Amino acid sequence: MNDTIAAISTALGVGAISIIRISGKDSIKVANLVFKGTNLEEVKTHTIHYGYIKDNDEIIDEVLVSVMKSPKTFTTEDIVEINCHGGISTTNRILELILRKGVRMAEAGEFTKRAFMNGRIDLVEAESVMDLINSKTEKARKLGVNHITGTLSEVIKTFRQEILELLASIEVNIDYPEYEDIEEMTNKKIKEKMHHIKEKLEKIVNESKQGQIIKEGINVAIVGRPNVGKSSILNRLLGEEKAIVTDIQGTTRDIIEGSVSIEGIMLNIIDTAGIRETNDIVESIGVEKSLETISKADLVLIVLNNNEELTKEDKKIIEKAKNIPHIIVINKKDLEEKLNIEEISKNQEIVKVDTLTHKGIEPLINKIKELFELDKIDNNDFTYLSNSRQIALAKEAYEIINDIEKGLEEEVPIDMVEIDIKRIWTKLGEIIGETYDDELIDQLFSQFCLGK
Ligand code: GDP
Repeated sequence: MNDTIAAISTALGVGAISIIRISGKDSIKVANLVFKGTNLEEVKTHTIHYGYIKDNDEIIDEVLVSVMKSPKTFTTEDIVEINCHGGISTTNRILELILRKGVRMAEAGEFTKRAFMNGRIDLVEAESVMDLINSKTEKARKLGVNHITGTLSEVIKTFRQEILELLASIEVNIDYPEYEDIEEMTNKKIKEKMHHIKEKLEKIVNESKQGQIIKEGINVAIVGRPNVGKSSILNRLLGEEKAIVTDIQGTTRDIIEGSVSIEGIMLNIIDTAGIRETNDIVESIGVEKSLETISKADLVLIVLNNNEELTKEDKKIIEKAKNIPHIIVINKKDLEEKLNIEEISKNQEIVKVDTLTHKGIEPLINKIKELFELDKIDNNDFTYLSNSRQIALAKEAYEIINDIEKGLEEEVPIDMVEIDIKRIWTKLGEIIGETYDDELIDQLFSQFCLGK
């Protein structure tokens, strides 16, 4: 962590400008060795300088160099950013030149890791750097930027503070039972406080589903017998001709994916091969995949045909998806009705559509909005947990509360309860990275891209 690192921070390719970032105690000295212009070792912090990058006498490029001195920088170390002309060879040449001066090539995510290790940002903020970079919708961007600015971390910190106060009063009760001017922590009082903590944590865990939806979108699988109109529905939803539409049974042999944004939420749609008994090897692999897709989806669209009677296969598909959120989509409503809705078991979400016009598919889009409460997401304040690491920790903390409640019912000694409350406090601390495991940190930052 004491050495100086460098990497190209912009996407590698042809562009107007590329940025090479250097961080560490030697960054200004090294940049100065290859820069022809003002003496960078004498400039003020947070200033930009015009000049040339030179390899001995050879001019490599005309550049602008930003000098940012510790501690008010992203990594809290001295940082120099060289803005050169975009293009693979110029950018690589400048990076190579810097590496030759004793600077080490940064690992993936190492700048952000340094920002975390040096206490500049917490873990939620670090993870959201990646979320922000990867955000594809306006809502995902908002969520990412809110996490970067510490809004979510603040919620967790305040919550931990409340738990800490409860722990403090329990401890005072254990250590100084003779004090009369402190609030006595009876089992009943702890129960009340635990109930409050449970409600709060429950809210965080429940809302995290929305956070995940905003960040990752909803995985939608379209399933149904051949020719019911799965590819047509996909195309309508995507608004482009991505899947092959024919009336020969079994054309969609593989899984076709496409994404579309509805109310600012990505729907990642998967069209599956028609599910039916088949002897064709290639097609049967597709069928296998279809069944597998059902189990992985957040939402299954079961497509039936309005002008055909319900078949054995249709019933099988409905049965297969019964434990996953699903919508029964009766397609080809423009054709004569032969399907008997009564045959489909009660309490199902059913919509009738046709793929002939955009209007024909609207009932389906509205049903998806309703099921996932997409309209409501905008009214919330974007402090949801949004990645599986954070959510898993919040759920573990929630489970501990159940143990505590059981313990309180069984009148276990107060110091035992205290241990479990401390565990909640620790779990929440892991979310923001107050306590962490080195291996986890390495693994987490290695998922970042180079130069971040
Ligand atoms: P898949 O095998 O389930 O993917 O079905 P396709 O999307 O390939 O559609 C099968 C056939 O049904 C094609 O000839 C489509 O043009 C036709 N089709 C799809 N949707 C509709 C609809 O809403 N109304 C009518 N009349 N035909 C449709």
